[in-house]
Amino acid sequence: MKGAPVQRRRTRQRAAIRAVLESARRPLSIGEVLESARRSVPRLGIATVYRTVGALVEEGFLSQVEIGGEAPRYEISGRAHHHHFRCRRCHRVFEMDGCLPDVRRLAPAGFVVEDHEILLSGLCPDCAAPRRG
Ligand SMILES: [Zn+2]
Ligand SMILES: [Zn+2]
Repeated sequence: MKGAPVQRRRTRQRAAIRAVLESARRPLSIGEVLESARRSVPRLGIATVYRTVGALVEEGFLSQVEIGGEAPRYEISGRAHHHHFRCRRCHRVFEMDGCLPDVRRLAPAGFVVEDHEILLSGLCPDCAAPRRG
């Protein structure tokens, strides 16, 4: 037997939100998730996106990405070690592969490095391209 209509709607909304984040290959804000997921679920509301993304974080499917005091973005958990690039014009955040070699050696002698953050910023290819017209 199929679930109640509410249940079916929630399942469809959740699947759309997951699909958006899986295909994005970069961390998305709640607004970006909403905009993309509305292509398959036009009546999706922002409260549903907040609730669903929150549940996916609790389940460990998504990780929160905090950059520069901005509202958090979300990406799929379990990706290989990587850092991000933030475009100052369109404010999108992109994923970069890998890390700097020997990043720990930047610390002065005697310091024990336990973690690090690297953020590049500038213009993404879309924003760096000369404007047409
Ligand atoms: Zn850009
Ligand atoms: Zn690193």
